[in-house]
Amino acid sequence: MKTGFAAAFGLCLALPVAIPEEPAPLAGFSADSARAEREWEAKFRAIPDPALLRAYMERLSARPHHVGSPYDRDNAEWLLGKFREWGLDAHVENFDVLFPTPKERLLEMVAPTHFVARIEEPTVAVDPTSSQHDEQLPTYNAYSIDGDVTGPLVYVNFGVPDDYETLDRYGVSVKGAIVIARYGGSWRGIKPKVAAEHGAIGCLIYSDPRDDGYAPGQVFPAGPYRPKDGVQRGSVMDMPIYPGDPLTPGVGATPQATRLPLDQAVTLTKIPVMPISYADAQPLMAALEGPVAPAPWRGGLPVTYRLGPGPAQVHLKLKFNWDQKPLYDVIARIPGAVYPDEWIIRGNHHDAWVNGAEDPISGTIAELEEARAMAELLKQGWKPKRTIIFCVWDGEEPGLLGSTEWAEEHDAELRSHAAMYINSDSNSRGYLGVEGSHSLEHFINGVARDIPDPESNVTVWKRVQFQRIAGAGEGRMMMPQTDRAEARTRPDLRIGALGSGSDYTAFLDHVGVASLNLGFGGEDGGGIYHSIYDDFYWYTHFSDTTFVYGRALAQTAGTAVMRLAGADLLPFDFHDLADTLHRYVDEVEKLAHEKRDQTIERNRQIDDGVFAALEDPHVTMLPPPKEPVPPFLNFAPLENGLAALEHESQAFEQAAAHTAANGGSALARAELKDVNDRLTVFERAFLSSDGLPSRPWFKHQIYAPGLYTGYGVKTLPAVREAIEQKQWKLADEEIARVGKVLENAADAIRGATAALKQATM
Ligand SMILES: [Zn+2]
Repeated sequence: MKTGFAAAFGLCLALPVAIPEEPAPLAGFSADSARAEREWEAKFRAIPDPALLRAYMERLSARPHHVGSPYDRDNAEWLLGKFREWGLDAHVENFDVLFPTPKERLLEMVAPTHFVARIEEPTVAVDPTSSQHDEQLPTYNAYSIDGDVTGPLVYVNFGVPDDYETLDRYGVSVKGAIVIARYGGSWRGIKPKVAAEHGAIGCLIYSDPRDDGYAPGQVFPAGPYRPKDGVQRGSVMDMPIYPGDPLTPGVGATPQATRLPLDQAVTLTKIPVMPISYADAQPLMAALEGPVAPAPWRGGLPVTYRLGPGPAQVHLKLKFNWDQKPLYDVIARIPGAVYPDEWIIRGNHHDAWVNGAEDPISGTIAELEEARAMAELLKQGWKPKRTIIFCVWDGEEPGLLGSTEWAEEHDAELRSHAAMYINSDSNSRGYLGVEGSHSLEHFINGVARDIPDPESNVTVWKRVQFQRIAGAGEGRMMMPQTDRAEARTRPDLRIGALGSGSDYTAFLDHVGVASLNLGFGGEDGGGIYHSIYDDFYWYTHFSDTTFVYGRALAQTAGTAVMRLAGADLLPFDFHDLADTLHRYVDEVEKLAHEKRDQTIERNRQIDDGVFAALEDPHVTMLPPPKEPVPPFLNFAPLENGLAALEHESQAFEQAAAHTAANGGSALARAELKDVNDRLTVFERAFLSSDGLPSRPWFKHQIYAPGLYTGYGVKTLPAVREAIEQKQWKLADEEIARVGKVLENAADAIRGATAALKQATM
């Protein structure tokens, strides 16, 4: 990807990095304060050091450091020591959370032949930390329930709801069966959930070599991809219901917190589930008979992919230690000089599944360098206006535990004080990926224009723009579909919406703090995710080996933090927000119309006998069932809410433009506390206290992880999911409720506009 891209644009990797063009005015700053800000930012960006990033990674990933392990605590103490050594006010905050670890694991095929799965990742001779077996967590899925089940095997592709509709048409049922799903297509926790809903009694998830094994490249240690015995560990907690400690939903898991009994923890799986390697999956898949799987279901194993059920009979036995384990969140604080009660929060986790050099340490080390650099600036006289809080979370991997418990514990304070949360979680070479609140889209575009790309002679912003114009590469972060003309002409590059999968979730979805997730990627593939091979050896051979993209992440996130903390007026922008919301409203309306048209057409084909006539009579294929035609929905409340928000965003824009006149002299002399206070809490206007239907913990009405996608975002989730799940009455109710939320947001913007005018008249 890299080579093709560079050749097409004649870029030379050896060129020194570019100085960004003529600095643009900084939104939210008067001319004088912008000048001072840019000087401090330039000093800041010169500090992060690739050699130190490398040294931090070597230290933090030297031993396995999952929740509850000795090295997890050791790392937290080391991080605390670093913050204090640099002169920052830091402490460790503890929580006690449910964290199951394996006591017994057995997977065997009992018919037609006998085979016992290895379920172990072997040492790789050249990779020194891969031999630390005494400290490694076995391969397992956290928050699977205990179980001892035997049944016929069925292959379910990704195991998402659509796949079960396909199985129905083949006449294949998973009732009483153990399903085998491949990774991909959804977050892993969705697979056992949907399998259980269809009557399965057990679930296996394997890494197909087509995705991250020998198909895309050479396997480790010859290359970066997954070796045959490599396994993707991971959580299967039902996080779309609520993340964090399963026993303390909505409150911090402090020693005195009231805990649910284990049998009432609804986010545990309903059936036992275990991840396996492709070496272990191959004999199981080879022993399946029944219909040949449809073409899109076939992966990279050298077997004919068939659906079953059986004749392979599988025995899965899992037992866990259901213990509580301590969390160590490391928190450091730089007090604000002017607005100490407005908080800019920066976070990345420090716990890993095993050694976790890429996930998460490649992001953790960037945050550390940001803290060291800002500590240095403080000694030189830098005074951020707002309070900056560095958080290094524990327990992200099992279920966003450290960040969720901290956000729940500090819920009330965060509601009044938190202006923004900036997250990262892993980093490699390539393009800047940004997802987040669209009220920050304009702001983060401005930051990205000021960061030089370390390997090409353009800014990181320009590189993403070229990527979109060329249609080259697939940014690692989900970028929204953008057409080429728009990439050339729209002043701001669109940012993706946040689903879930990292520590921003509690901040954005539960507390309503405007959030961004940042990271570089897209140029280095790999297949070591959540395995023992994600370690220092792998990272320094196959990823950002010179740590220049680690430095770029520190420069990007640190510049964003400083600019937010230093602005006279918080640089929220509602133009891109309104533009994006308009797209979301159009999308859900289109979705409802398409559902209706498709149902009418399909029912007609069923009545006409199209399915029956076209099917091969030698293959069992059932027609899909007829469905009631969806009613027309009344989208007026959503459109009215959107119109109000668009109107108010224009009014705010005009007022803000007025403050920028005459070198921003109005900003320089104004008393801006009232308007900043209003902007600090703006994102909270998108919350509804009842939360989303059937999942009240998720309060944000614009963004949420999908109930059946997991990490994947659903925008306008209450409305979109009601339509997708054909709950028409609910859809009508939610349209009205979300319309009201848009009106609330419009009111909040109107209040901010009035306060801004008042302050700068
Ligand atoms: Zn991570």
